[in-house]
Amino acid sequence: MTKVLKGIAASDGIAAAKAYMLVQPDLSFTETSIDDPEAEVKRLDDALAASKKELELIKAKATENLGPEEAEVFEAHLTILADPELIGQIKDKINSDKVNAEAALKSVTDMFISMFESMTDNAYMQERAGDIRDVTKRVMSHLLGVTLPNPALINEEVVIVAHDLTPSDTAQLDRNFVKGFITDIGGRTSHSAIMSRTLEIAAVVGSGNATSEVKDGDMVIIDGIEGDAIINPSEDQLAEYKQKAADFAAQKSEWKLLKDAKSVTADGKEVTLAANIGTPDDVVGANDNGAEAVGLFRSEFLYMNSAELPTEDEQFEAYKKAIEGMNGKQVVVRTMDIGGDKELPYLPLPKEENPFLGYRAIRISLDRQDIFRTQLRALLRASAFGRLAIMFPMIATVNEFKQAKAIFEEEKANLVAAGVKVSDDIEVGMMMEIPAAAMIADKLAKYADFFSIGTNDLIGYTMAADRGNERVSYLYQPYNPSILRLVKRIIDASHAEGKWTGMCGEMAGDQVAVPLLAGLGLDEFSMSATSILKTRSLMKTLDTTKMQELADKALDCETAEEVTALVEEYTK
Ligand code: PEP
Ligand code: MG
Repeated sequence: MTKVLKGIAASDGIAAAKAYMLVQPDLSFTETSIDDPEAEVKRLDDALAASKKELELIKAKATENLGPEEAEVFEAHLTILADPELIGQIKDKINSDKVNAEAALKSVTDMFISMFESMTDNAYMQERAGDIRDVTKRVMSHLLGVTLPNPALINEEVVIVAHDLTPSDTAQLDRNFVKGFITDIGGRTSHSAIMSRTLEIAAVVGSGNATSEVKDGDMVIIDGIEGDAIINPSEDQLAEYKQKAADFAAQKSEWKLLKDAKSVTADGKEVTLAANIGTPDDVVGANDNGAEAVGLFRSEFLYMNSAELPTEDEQFEAYKKAIEGMNGKQVVVRTMDIGGDKELPYLPLPKEENPFLGYRAIRISLDRQDIFRTQLRALLRASAFGRLAIMFPMIATVNEFKQAKAIFEEEKANLVAAGVKVSDDIEVGMMMEIPAAAMIADKLAKYADFFSIGTNDLIGYTMAADRGNERVSYLYQPYNPSILRLVKRIIDASHAEGKWTGMCGEMAGDQVAVPLLAGLGLDEFSMSATSILKTRSLMKTLDTTKMQELADKALDCETAEEVTALVEEYTK
């Protein structure tokens, strides 16, 4: 039966394919006593053999798609599967306690996991605990005869259905096969949504109940433009969406004609349209979409895509590649912004009640200066290869900025003294994503070379509404006059000091926000590369004086709805 699910439009595009359920199956079991231990050991051996075969396949696929380093984790899993100590103990338990294989597996692996987890000062052992947990799940699934989702093995066109996707789940999706995804939870600015735009995968998030409404293999249409998903559509609906997909493709080809054009308003004012990237390889997409700069390189993805802290040389190569790839255009690299929804398995952070208000970003960098200084040295060395700018995430106070900048200057002086070539023209700026910083933007503007407004977090912190929580998404209002007033304050403060302001939050590519931001005098708009050309097309229709008038009126509105209506009136 056909069903329509409503969610949040997260990434433009239309996709129609069979559903692939990325959900964890029920692995519960009942402990039973057995009277044929030999048969039970055989069941265990069969499950181990099936797990081994599966892991070898996944490892080969991961090596091919993601590279040998990413595949290392599966090698670690294979080693655990063959560990005589661990397997021996499970078999002993079956034989001595006469319990079923499921119970023996769980009891022995639980013991190893809690032993490793108790070594709190040993990150390596803690990671092994995670590996044993993963391997146990796999073996258990074979014992119980249920299937674990293996996204790395997808080899036909699918639409992924999941409760949520972490950034690392999203990074593993092969866009040749994964045509779209729909999740139960999440918002437009959660990182998996942002990544889906970079990957150009149609996505709907925050649908509430996709995982309970869709079954493996159902036909699903994802309309990432409107935020709808249609389960088991009729022939007519399929034809309608095929047309919609064709129209969207035609629209995209029209925008493509603007690839090498300047970004100018109707009255000739130039602005910069830049791309947000997560890896050096994303520079290709940035250039293909006519980016005039990289306004945000989320460097934490280098850390997330690695099995351990990336070395100075590894980072240097990555930054150099991005900088060279942009051929003299500016690349703003943001220093590591770990925490919130971005975790590093090898840097276990304490569990916190409110991770988005917790130990993250510059707070970690100032605390773990070993990590921060390594990153700064890699950046400084890469600066010799093009136009680099650096910015610090989550700055709340003047002192944080001064401290971070002082460490940067120290590392720079050390490298110069050692004879290393470093650019003497690196702008050092900061993210404006905490309301406290916005309120003292005039003070910060004396020290920072530029501001980049991170509306994804700024809106969340200002409205006290978590960016990834669909239940309060009605409060996540980019056009609320409170947000516009903060944005104005930041831009004006930077201009008063002769500095510039960009915006790298998702609002910068939002077609309703762009006229307002142009009116507020924003200098650089940095967005998912796939939004650049449609923004350039829109920019051509806007008149600066009229947009200033629009912005003035919007600042004086009472509600976000009023602002939206005003924008419609001014841009029609
Ligand atoms: C932001 O907060 O707007 C931002 C660009 O940073 P991130 O989305 O990575 O938190
Ligand atoms: Mg942020």
